[in-house]
Amino acid sequence: MNHPKGLYLLFVTEMSERFSYYGMRALLTLYMVAALFTMTRASEVYGTFTSLVYLTPLVGGYIADRYWGNRRSILAGGICMAIGQFLMFLSACFIQPSIQVEGGAIDPSVDNTLALWFMVSGLGMLVIGNGLFKPNIATMVGDLYPQDDRRKDAAFTIFYMGVNIGALLAPLVCGIFEGSFQDPGRFRWGFLIACIVISLSMLIFWTFKNRFLVTPDGRQIGTSPKSVPSEKDSGKALTRTDYIHMLVIVILAVFVIFFWAAYEQAGSSLTYFADQQTDKTFFGWEMPTSWFQTFPALFCVVLAPVMNWMWQKMGRFEPHSIQKLAIGLALLSLAYLVIAFGVKDVEPGLKVSILWIISLYFIQVLGELSLSPIGLSLVSRLSPKRFASLMMGIWYLSTSVSNYTAGKLATLYPEEGQTKYLLGIPITDLHDFFLIFVVMSAVASILLFCLCPLLKRMMK
Ligand code: GLN
Repeated sequence: MNHPKGLYLLFVTEMSERFSYYGMRALLTLYMVAALFTMTRASEVYGTFTSLVYLTPLVGGYIADRYWGNRRSILAGGICMAIGQFLMFLSACFIQPSIQVEGGAIDPSVDNTLALWFMVSGLGMLVIGNGLFKPNIATMVGDLYPQDDRRKDAAFTIFYMGVNIGALLAPLVCGIFEGSFQDPGRFRWGFLIACIVISLSMLIFWTFKNRFLVTPDGRQIGTSPKSVPSEKDSGKALTRTDYIHMLVIVILAVFVIFFWAAYEQAGSSLTYFADQQTDKTFFGWEMPTSWFQTFPALFCVVLAPVMNWMWQKMGRFEPHSIQKLAIGLALLSLAYLVIAFGVKDVEPGLKVSILWIISLYFIQVLGELSLSPIGLSLVSRLSPKRFASLMMGIWYLSTSVSNYTAGKLATLYPEEGQTKYLLGIPITDLHDFFLIFVVMSAVASILLFCLCPLLKRMMK
């Protein structure tokens, strides 16, 4: 399958932007805990941040469609993120050791107000920047192809590989500069790398955009707002079909919430699980817990071409895109089912084989590849042109809701001597905890399969 060169420019731009984002994210909680807050406070700030970064794409999409066009929004977003990363760097430059023992009390005589304000404004700039960047780059991928082009699923899967190459390399590189409570200033080098990489990303995008970002018939993409009709477009008023298509996107976005709410356990409950209940020792060497975060990204990069090949090989038996989303949810349910049985009857103090969590991530990523890039492709095909980026923003809004929900669900992670409840049902051990995600995604998957015929008709 041949793809336009513009796809590879967007691939590189997104790869480096995600490197910057995930590099900073890998350090953020560690930085806060080593220098500024207790674990609980740091988790709250982290949860609020990851939820806000996916809320602003709604505004970023609107601004692009209405005023700026995609290119200008991407550049503005990238610059905001570079400034944000630089402010994080400054924060870590001004930080002074204030934690007395690891995870312990903060020395009140040390004043870190300046570092705190740099961090808060840095995170704010990252929230604004991501909002302007994220929906618009995805919209541009779609614009490289005619509206109903069959190559779109494959194109978004390739683009998604870029996302994950960035996500894979970032914690490995930025993680080298993990500081400690004795030396929190060391974190600054990780933030500085993130700042340099996003700046490079913008430089590459700015240099090559005119050459490669063109439609199949040679028109420049993303230069003007989509609500301004170009000479090629006829009428611009929304039709009944457009409204129905937008409704389909909203319905699908609701289903996707269940996917990411389980998926995003990776950063919290699954990290505790990897830390406390997984045997990570190989020949006397213990694998760092933060490395577990790279497994999903690694599997994504390896499996994306396999999935593309598989969909293509299936020919006329290739499932409909909505069925692919439902398959994604079913695979997620299976992934948690595997681990739920792996930990059945395991005593709290005991550690289980690393293979359980690896199997979970492997199956979960198969689900991710069946849902996430395919979802982007669907949004791109269904959105009326003038609202294309806004609809991407709505799609990402589900991730925002999911991140918030994921944090709430993670608090149900079993702790000794405490019984927690979900809708009145007691969650007593890890088995019960993982079953929450099995049931949640299985129900969503079955419902989506049932709605498939109706949604397909609405898509016509
Ligand atoms: N890993 C994807 C990314 O960073 C996930 C985005 C999402 O929709 N949750 O782009």
